[in-house]
Amino acid sequence: MKKLMAANWKMYKTRDEAEQTARGLVGLVAGRIPADREVLVIPPFTALSVVARELAAIPGFSLGAQNFYPAAQGAFTGEIAPDMLLDLGCAYALAGHSERRHVLGESDAFVGRKVAFGLAAGLRMILCVGEKIEERQAGLVREVVKRQLDAGLSDVVPDVHPETLVVAYEPVWAIGTGLTAGPADVAEAHGFVREMLRARYGEKGNEVRILYGGSVKPENSGEIIGIDNVDGVLVGGASLRAESFAAIALA
Ligand code: PEP
Repeated sequence: MKKLMAANWKMYKTRDEAEQTARGLVGLVAGRIPADREVLVIPPFTALSVVARELAAIPGFSLGAQNFYPAAQGAFTGEIAPDMLLDLGCAYALAGHSERRHVLGESDAFVGRKVAFGLAAGLRMILCVGEKIEERQAGLVREVVKRQLDAGLSDVVPDVHPETLVVAYEPVWAIGTGLTAGPADVAEAHGFVREMLRARYGEKGNEVRILYGGSVKPENSGEIIGIDNVDGVLVGGASLRAESFAAIALA
């Protein structure tokens, strides 16, 4: 199973900026990505084609999208369909990122529709789950993660290929705040996600990658990636500069 080192550029970067960052990243890591790692860049929609051009045919790199609407096409003004992303060279897409759940108001059920639709359309799906600080303080981490996983995976076919499904555990209080979950908390949450994946998919649940996200930076990525059941990282802020994401990707 390849570790997945993912850069989520959120709503940052014009096409020129994205091109420069992608070019810088390729310059720093191309030819140095270990065989058991995959580097994924997830730019905003408007920069997908320029980043695709920079990453084209470079071994070890993949392209992903931050969002899509779960329909093949239609009267959905402002939305993007999975086929449009595949057409641009995307292999992956996110669903359930905390900013979409808590800023844009996406429900657990809608996230579940996206995961199933994206997989059926041929995208590899990264389902993000994680608790808010008040939920952690109330001892509800497992309940929240279970609810989001159950809803997020409810329409996924039981014989899903485990390589095409990724779960990202991202405690909301650690995203963009500089706070990182401690190694014990990460191990506990990832162990719980793994248990749930095994309960749902049997042995295949061991092959679904589980990423950690939440203020990952060059200084902590080596330790995080070494924790049991951490199969990669999803990085926001520290992925915006080529140098810092290169250090994380190669940590
Ligand atoms: C994210 O966007 O998924 C994320 C984890 O952001 P940050 O690394 O900035 O906390």
